[in-house]
Amino acid sequence: MDFDAYAKTAVDLVNAPLEHLDDLRAVFIDERSWMREEAVERDVAVFRRAQKRLRDVFESGAAGRDAEAVAELNILLETYPIQPRISGHDSGDWHMHVTSRGASVSAEYLAGAAWGLAVWLCEYGSARFGVCADERCGNVYLDTSSNNCRRFCSERCATRSHVAAHRARKRAAVDETLTQLAPVG
Ligand SMILES: [Zn+2]
Ligand SMILES: [Zn+2]
Repeated sequence: MDFDAYAKTAVDLVNAPLEHLDDLRAVFIDERSWMREEAVERDVAVFRRAQKRLRDVFESGAAGRDAEAVAELNILLETYPIQPRISGHDSGDWHMHVTSRGASVSAEYLAGAAWGLAVWLCEYGSARFGVCADERCGNVYLDTSSNNCRRFCSERCATRSHVAAHRARKRAAVDETLTQLAPVG
């Protein structure tokens, strides 16, 4: 099983807007695209609740609250237990599912997400769970950088933040010049 891919499904879910069923369907990509057909309106609320709890794991890890991240993940593992099963859809290409036959889309997706994150934490540590440093963004990410120094969810946020910081410095410099030019008192 590709645990990294499962951990990535947790990231995808936390970062997704979840207003409508269509938002939820958009989360189901690649091997999970079969879930689009099966997701129903009431799944949205289930996913929204799970989304919040998964976000808590990222926030705890990013803030250095290691034991909390572990405790939260253990609760998620209990809530969304895995039950591995070999499955084949139409094409008969055998692959693993993480819940039993007839399980709901939410049970399947969330068991995989919790399991993937748990394995990820044991492998790399909760300090590698991140929340984007751009406050307007708030997306979460898994820090795979060699020295655990990633601060933004994406290249886009990093660039935007650097541009904003640069402008602020420039503005501060201009303000200072104006202050110096202005007569004092
Ligand atoms: Zn399948
Ligand atoms: Zn971001």
